[in-house]
Formats: sequence, structure tokens, C-alpha cells
Amino acid sequence: MSAIVVGSINMDLVLNVSHFPAPGETLTASGLNYFPGGKGANQAVAIARMGTAVMLVGRVGVDGNGSVLLEGLRQNGVNTEHVETLADASSGLAFITVEAGGQNSIVIYPGANARLTPPDLDLPFNALPGDARILLTQLEVPSETVLRAMTLAKGHGLKTIFNPAPAKPLSEVRPILSVTDILILNETEAQILTGIEAVSPDAAAAAANKLLAFGIQAVIVTLGAAGSLLVSGDKQLKTAAPVVEVVDTTAAGDAFIAGFCVALIENRPMEQAVRFGNAAGAFAVTRLGAQPSLPTYQEVSQTISGNSH
Ligand code: ADP
Repeated sequence: MSAIVVGSINMDLVLNVSHFPAPGETLTASGLNYFPGGKGANQAVAIARMGTAVMLVGRVGVDGNGSVLLEGLRQNGVNTEHVETLADASSGLAFITVEAGGQNSIVIYPGANARLTPPDLDLPFNALPGDARILLTQLEVPSETVLRAMTLAKGHGLKTIFNPAPAKPLSEVRPILSVTDILILNETEAQILTGIEAVSPDAAAAAANKLLAFGIQAVIVTLGAAGSLLVSGDKQLKTAAPVVEVVDTTAAGDAFIAGFCVALIENRPMEQAVRFGNAAGAFAVTRLGAQPSLPTYQEVSQTISGNSH
């Protein structure tokens, strides 16, 4: 069984600083790293690293970053048959600043990602792998493209999982929610979509219930170190995350989502999939960078068992 991801591919330029610069302030960074990233690529690599087959549909530019990114995806075992290189676009770039406490702030230049259009989905969806079970999307490619991918996936009987990140206004996202089976979002995204500040589990549950009303089967709000909240029908389940030492929170959400998808593809119940996601997310915050911090299946399993005694 396999997953399809329609999403972004970026090169992340990660700068380490003592604190975030105030407006007008000039800071000297103590470190610079280039890491392959982009939510689509991160989630696809995370799924592949956990041993599940995954195809990524995306775009890179013809620049040096594009070839490094494509090569990295292939080395991680992601099927890149439908990642096209555009001759007249820059690859996507993310400028990520990480402060001493491990929090990050990000500026993105979409480049080639913005050029993945709805008609570009004809080719991959006309030849979907026969064992495809899940379609996973985010919002770093145009929302019309996400909507068409989710609609086509529904028509093919796939389970549709939507991570509305980075968050956009509800008016833009609403059509996508109507073709979403499972919605996974963090507290900031929940707040932007619902107007409810999801700072407590109760508030997160209120936000999730508001989103469930769009006809979604299950909503999962990730709560950082506090774990995650699953709301489905009238059921509500808060699951704690393993306790870990924070190095860099980049890609925690991506790791969570991938872990959740891998467990679902294994036919595990949603409650177990959430635990697997929490452990994957917790593991990712213990290492620097996006893709380098993503765990293997064994590392996720060890994170779960290491925290159960
Ligand atoms: P995002 O990266 O989108 O902001 P979160 O911060 O909510 O998402 O993190 C996603 C998941 O990663 C959480 O639900 C949790 O399982 C795990 N996680 C994040 N931060 C920590 C942490 N400090 N300790 C343990 N687990 C964490």
C-alpha cells in the first residue's frame, strides 16, 4: 500500500541566532546550513523513511538547488516520476531562523512550487499506483491545485488527508475542506481558520468541532510538547507526546503527519496512528533541520517504548 503527496519542494537555508531580530536590528548568525525541505517533500521523505512507498507530485527549478533536491528525494526512496524540473523558475526557498530556545521563524519564496497547476495533475492521476490508499496535501502549492488533487483522489477512492499549512483564510480553504477526510493542523492554523485561539485542549476541541462541521471525518490538532487532540464525531481523545530534549522544532508537524499516515496505511486504528504520529514528531524536535531530523520506523517505535516505562 502506498501514499501520494502533492506538495512543495524547497531548499531550507537555516540560520542559528541567539534571538529573533527586532525590526531594524542587524544580527550575526552563529551557523548556516542548507537542508532539503518544503512541507510536501518533508512529508514524502518522512513516509519513505518509515518504509512506506510514496510518490511525490511537485516542481523544482533548473538551478543547482533543484538537482540537489531531486537527488535527495530519490536517495530517500521517494518516487519522483512526477516531479518536473521547470526551465524558467527558481526552486522554492525557505529562509529559516532558529533561536537559542529552538523556536523558528520562516520566510518562503515559492518559486517552482507556485507553478504546479491543476492540469499538471492529469498525468499522475491517470496512472496512479494500483496500491495507492492515501492522498496527502498541504498549502505550499496553489490551493486550486490542492482542491483538484483532493477531488480527483476522492474519485479514485483514496483517503484524503489535508494539512492546511501555512494557514490561509477559511474562504480560500473551505472548498478543500469539503473533500477532506482527515484534517491535521497545529494551533496557529486552527486559530487562523476558526478564529478560536487553540491554546488549551478545550479551545482546541472547540476549533476542531467547528471544522468537523464542514463534513470532515476527523480533525487532529497538534499541540506541540503537549501532544495532540483527535476529534471525530462526538469522540475526543487527547494523547500526550513523549518527553524529549528540544533542539529544533522544524518539521515536527511534518513528522507527526507522516507517522500518522504510515500507521493508517498499516490499517491501525486512528488512536494508535495518533500515538505513532506523536512519537515521530517528538523524535524530529531532537535533531537540527527538516529532513535530516525525520525518523525511521524503528526510531519511532523506540521513542514510543522508551517513554512507556
Ligand atoms: P508544528 O511543527 O506544525 O508547529 P507542533 O509543534 O504541534 O506542529 O508539533 C507536531 C507534533 O510534534 C506534536 O503534536 C507532538 O507530537 C510533537 N512535538 C512537537 N514539539 C514537541 C516537544 N517539544 N516535545 C515532544 N513532542 C513534540
